[in-house]
Amino acid sequence: MTFRENANIGGGRARRGGGGGGGMAVGGGIGALLLALLVMLFGGDPGQVLQPQSQGQDSSAQNVDLAECRTGADANENVDCRMKGGMASLETYWTEVYPRAAPATAILFSGGVNTQCGQASSAVGPFYCPLDRQIYLDTSFFQQLEGQLGAEGGSLGELYVLAHEYGHHIQNYTGALQASQQSRQGEESGAVRVELQADCFAGAWVGHVAQGEDALLEPPTEEQIRSALSAAAAVGDDSIQERMQGQVTPHTWTHGSSEQRMGWFMRGYQSADANQCDVLNAASVDDY
Ligand SMILES: [Zn+2]
Repeated sequence: MTFRENANIGGGRARRGGGGGGGMAVGGGIGALLLALLVMLFGGDPGQVLQPQSQGQDSSAQNVDLAECRTGADANENVDCRMKGGMASLETYWTEVYPRAAPATAILFSGGVNTQCGQASSAVGPFYCPLDRQIYLDTSFFQQLEGQLGAEGGSLGELYVLAHEYGHHIQNYTGALQASQQSRQGEESGAVRVELQADCFAGAWVGHVAQGEDALLEPPTEEQIRSALSAAAAVGDDSIQERMQGQVTPHTWTHGSSEQRMGWFMRGYQSADANQCDVLNAASVDDY
């Protein structure tokens, strides 16, 4: 999506984090990649993927100074500013739709980061830590999304990822996140339902923006919607398993298939109503 050039994005809650990179392997080996894929768009099981807290040196690279991200033009130009702008829009949206949830903060890091959920390397992909209620994201993930995972790329694909994580933050308040702990894998599992709901929430936000009343973002173009769908498809469990292990094993799914992820995103988008995202109580995850 494109930000309105003169929009003020200064209020977006995003800051730099780091301190978790030292001593951890974050290289591009297949092991690291596989780990990243298994937990991508991470949904709520820190113990599975995060290393125990330990002291590590700060490996975060300085990109832009987030304080310099002031306008929509900055967000259109720079991915870090885009995340900050996205957080501003998401906060406004969710404050209205679900005021019980406090605003989330996004921590942008490179290499590794310390969180209340433990220490994580970039290899785990973007994730949400329910304990400190923060979104963690290394924007280099977007290159992986477009490269290894085959997404088309584009700003809406990136903002979809951010909005998905913000969805987990909302679920932390609604209690939905617990469902992912109760049944952790399988086609109709709580984990999959939680992930699909986060996709639907992302779609509902984009649908809201499409109505033309968002102060920061212009309504998405059809091409941009396709880029979001492409990103959703790229992170489907079947797509990832096909790429990584050459076969699809639905009983191990944690995020849902490409079709399901696109389907729930579109349900949110077309209704522009987060109340239409009740995946947890749907008879089937295919009922989008
Ligand atoms: Zn997720």
